[in-house]
Amino acid sequence: MAGPRRFYTGFLPLPSSGITLCQADIRQETGVSILCVFNGDLPGRSGPDACPGALQVHAAADGGLARVRIPGGAVTAGQLRAVAAAARELGSGAIELTSRANLQVRGLPLPPDACEGAERAPVGAPDFAVRMAAAGLLPSATHERVRNIVASPLAGRSAASRRDVRPLVAELDRALCARPGLADLPGRFLFALDDGSGDVAALEADVTLRPVAAGDESEAALLLAGADPGLRAPSGAETAGLLAVAEAFLAERAAQGSRAWRLRELADGPARVAARAVRLEPRLRWSPGLPPDAYGDETGTVGAASAYSDETGAAGVVGMVGVVGQRDGRMALGVLPPLGRLTPAQAEALAEAAAGGAGEVRVTPWRTVVVPDLPPANAGRWRTRLAEAGLVTDPASPWLGLTACAGRPGCAKSLADVHADIRAALGDPRPDADVSGDAVRSPSGAGGRIPAHWAGCERRCGRPRGRVVDVVATGHGYRVEAGGGSRAFPDAEQTSAAVAATREGL
Ligand code: SF4
Repeated sequence: MAGPRRFYTGFLPLPSSGITLCQADIRQETGVSILCVFNGDLPGRSGPDACPGALQVHAAADGGLARVRIPGGAVTAGQLRAVAAAARELGSGAIELTSRANLQVRGLPLPPDACEGAERAPVGAPDFAVRMAAAGLLPSATHERVRNIVASPLAGRSAASRRDVRPLVAELDRALCARPGLADLPGRFLFALDDGSGDVAALEADVTLRPVAAGDESEAALLLAGADPGLRAPSGAETAGLLAVAEAFLAERAAQGSRAWRLRELADGPARVAARAVRLEPRLRWSPGLPPDAYGDETGTVGAASAYSDETGAAGVVGMVGVVGQRDGRMALGVLPPLGRLTPAQAEALAEAAAGGAGEVRVTPWRTVVVPDLPPANAGRWRTRLAEAGLVTDPASPWLGLTACAGRPGCAKSLADVHADIRAALGDPRPDADVSGDAVRSPSGAGGRIPAHWAGCERRCGRPRGRVVDVVATGHGYRVEAGGGSRAFPDAEQTSAAVAATREGL
């Protein structure tokens, strides 16, 4: 690989655009050109969001934090190996799964002038960006942070899937990157493509496509912030409809003089954005007043907008863990990286398993990974292999439903190394033998246990929605909160025992 060709390094404010060009490295390596452009984000709703990307990296306490968008959670075996190599050779080795089914790499080198303690300051990690671009994981420098697209992980494969939305994910991604105006979307804006199973519809994304009936030609509902204003997209107009909603969001946001990051933050957001979207895309049909279950909801009424957990945390639903049969006779294997973190070796083991199937894995919004299309004769072998690598494949494992914030050393505010404390208390996630149970998909936690979330301070970043056992570091141990009660414990071992008992008892 040839060395970098640096054309410009320095700081160049561009007042007319609101952009500050902090450092521009244009490289020509393996045909890849990278232009690092950073905007002048401010924390809070007073300015643009500060979501990290592969180009715009956060300066965290443990180094640069880069996020790689993988629309639909789809990563090829080769891409997974590229991320593993970058994490090992450039970063600390930690690869995190996010609640939008993206990947994060921690501990990247920071420039010497990166502000101390400025966790949200945009900085550059051009070596990392070049590698991601070469792996095909950075198709657009301008739109990289807005490619937030989740999709049902088993679309087109599971018996519950009413529509194979995989082609729509690729089409939406291409069309999104081709519209310059949509580079202005907040990094928090989320597209969801549900296959009719209702799994990603439950995330209440800013706009969710959900089929009305079975079949790839069926009409689809467009849900806005989890609500159904009656917007329908006929076959062939799905992508245009989704993008019309995104453009309508930006227009309504401007009309309200708002800096909202999410559609639900706008006044009367779903109804107003739906009305604008119909004007932007005439193929959309708007039928106000339809009942929420008009499209055959299988998981209950789609309710009003509610808070959605930060991407660095975990959603409140446990993804599939274990082996499940696909409708074509092949098998899908779901695994859980403890606390949503992969080591490079685990990522490589997953890539190896993927090569034994369709050559890809699907990262889920529940911070699990699905290896699809495995021949039935090999599924058990891969399950054993991934369990030996330290990934959870046992649906009864206590690791299911257990989440944590970054903690120390990744966050300067943390009063404890929560990941190390949990691992010390729970031990090795590798099962001693029996991982033969069927796959589990639970709305709350393994075996009906409610989730538990450990946090290094009172901010409780990444706390799942709904009923949760809260575990908060105090500087002298942890405090466990559940059901209105609270108890303090001096060490992680006692805390972990109390958490397990509380999860079972509630
Ligand atoms: S909860 Fe506190 S310690 Fe944990 S990541 Fe958030 S700010 Fe940091």
